[in-house]
Amino acid sequence: MAGEPLILVVEDEPAQREVLAYNLRSEGYAVSTAGAGDEALDLIRETPPDVIVLDWMLPHVSGIEICRQIKSSAGTQKIPVIMLSARSEETDKIRGLETGADDYVVKPYSVAELMARVKTQLRRTRPGAVGEQLNYKDIVLDMAEHRVYREGESLSLGPTEFRLLTAFMERPGRVWSREQLLDRVWGHDIYVDSRTVDVHVGRLRKTLRSTGREDPIRTVRGAGYALG
Ligand code: CA
Repeated sequence: MAGEPLILVVEDEPAQREVLAYNLRSEGYAVSTAGAGDEALDLIRETPPDVIVLDWMLPHVSGIEICRQIKSSAGTQKIPVIMLSARSEETDKIRGLETGADDYVVKPYSVAELMARVKTQLRRTRPGAVGEQLNYKDIVLDMAEHRVYREGESLSLGPTEFRLLTAFMERPGRVWSREQLLDRVWGHDIYVDSRTVDVHVGRLRKTLRSTGREDPIRTVRGAGYALG
């Protein structure tokens, strides 16, 4: 399915990297991987992930330094970083968190625990992707039931419109470019004309406006669309 959360795994040991990637894919996430810090930073710039799982011990540039760079750049600082480390000393944990890491997991860890930590971070950044209910004014989007309500009335949306509304409701006020919506709703590897975005936003608006309600989606000239 297009638009699943993207998790970046940064780990230099191939076996560990593959196990992590395998488990994350089994959870239904899209996964990108990097074996070194500079490669990771390139990937993050290219396609910003929703969560980064970052090993502390990397060749050349340490995980801490990568984390510092992610957290000091305006474009990437909001991406949650979970640091992995074989070290268990409390001072290391504090250092990890001081670099701005959002969470810290000590090796050896249980896969289930790491998956839970990833989910916790996604609950903040991609609440719609982890089965939460999203609310915006009189609109309720129930991920578990896959239903949308406005003023309590159930609305009928197509699958693409549902994913579009999910993206909007995860980040009310955020201005989405057509390209960003394409990546999020249609997927990173699919070629769709950006006009297609306009068509589906139009359909979404029409449904949301049904029975005389106001249009909650704003067209931002030269930039894209925003909810509210
Ligand atoms: Ca390592």
